Amino acid sequence: MGIFAHFDIDAFYAQVEQRKNPSLKGKPVLVGGNYLRRSVVASASYEARPYGIRAGMPLFMARRLCPNCIIVHPDFKTYQEYSRRFYRLLYSLSPDLEIISQDEAVVDLSRCRVLYPDPILTVRNWRRKIVRELGITVSAGMGSSKLVAKLAASRAKPDGFLYIPREQEEEFLKTFPLEEIPGIGRKTLIILENQGIRSVGALMKTSALGMKNFLGKKGEELVYQVKGLDLSGIIPGEKPKSVSRGYTLEHDITSLEEAKSHLLYLSDSVAMRLRREGAKGGRICLRIRRGDFSEVQKCRSISPPTSDTMTIYRTVYSLAKNIIGGFRIRLLSVEASSLSYTKQPLLFISGEEKIMEAIEKIRRKYGFSSIKFLNEATEEEYGVFVFRTARKLIQFLTSATSSFSDNRSSFR
Ligand SMILES: [Mg+2]
Repeated sequence: MGIFAHFDIDAFYAQVEQRKNPSLKGKPVLVGGNYLRRSVVASASYEARPYGIRAGMPLFMARRLCPNCIIVHPDFKTYQEYSRRFYRLLYSLSPDLEIISQDEAVVDLSRCRVLYPDPILTVRNWRRKIVRELGITVSAGMGSSKLVAKLAASRAKPDGFLYIPREQEEEFLKTFPLEEIPGIGRKTLIILENQGIRSVGALMKTSALGMKNFLGKKGEELVYQVKGLDLSGIIPGEKPKSVSRGYTLEHDITSLEEAKSHLLYLSDSVAMRLRREGAKGGRICLRIRRGDFSEVQKCRSISPPTSDTMTIYRTVYSLAKNIIGGFRIRLLSVEASSLSYTKQPLLFISGEEKIMEAIEKIRRKYGFSSIKFLNEATEEEYGVFVFRTARKLIQFLTSATSSFSDNRSSFR
């Protein structure tokens, strides 16, 4: 029998902001994008929640509900640092760790029975240790499956720990509405409802193989999960499973022409994060939120996997070509998944990758926007960049030259 502990940072971005700026402590804080009228709440502090504010709600609406809420623009770099520290702490608890997202991870303790004879005490103490070391609160849940552990953590929030013993798991799961079960989105919910399944209890009674006919492999897994027969275990590693970047546009757009520069920017930031993680993406997705908040997503597998800006951009562009047209676009998002982490020998690094490496050096020093691809960049213009200042241009040339000669000398 498995023993899974799920850890989830409470109101992640908002808490980091309160930690960074102690004058925000105890106050209702919303983290959201740059356009008050258009962005959504990325994270709301617990002080803001009694006003009915939830992540994903449009900022202007949140502002109406809570006029004295303090709006802070996101600082993704700092959030990433907190993420890394969070992963590291958990990794030292057990290497049987699966990263779910920036602020969520699950640990399999079943193989650590010798080390941790009392898992309940272990998780309780580790949660406190993480809270102490990060300076922000984290909730934890524990159960015999990943699903139960995750839902227990959600019930324990904020700053709590909840353990569900095996014999109470069925009853516990039945207390959740279907839409709160991870993996059940709007579409799946409709399909389930059409099958007369309106509760977790009803889903438990269906046959996994039967569900496969309606929802494919995902449906089969879903039934196994709620029945407590999830044998998938954890997917270990400190590495992310996907990398994405998206934002709400300042004004709605309608044409592919207008989307181009955004798609390039998003592709470039996804590519950069892939390179930083030492990863390549084998699947590229484009997600579009329409003016009426409905969404459409299209994906394409690419071979070989890549972390190259222009390859990602070209894939996203051709996906966009098939979708965009006839509706207003509010948000664009690009994602790379099916990540692989194989290191390639230096000998096979192409000229393009060397340029990417040089860009990376500049960005590490001067920030992401210090160097950009031309908005209208096409394949032929590849390698042409816009510089903010002459100083950075000189820096680029110096570091590019030195990085090329570094590589050359190692070929000998
Ligand atoms: Mg969280």
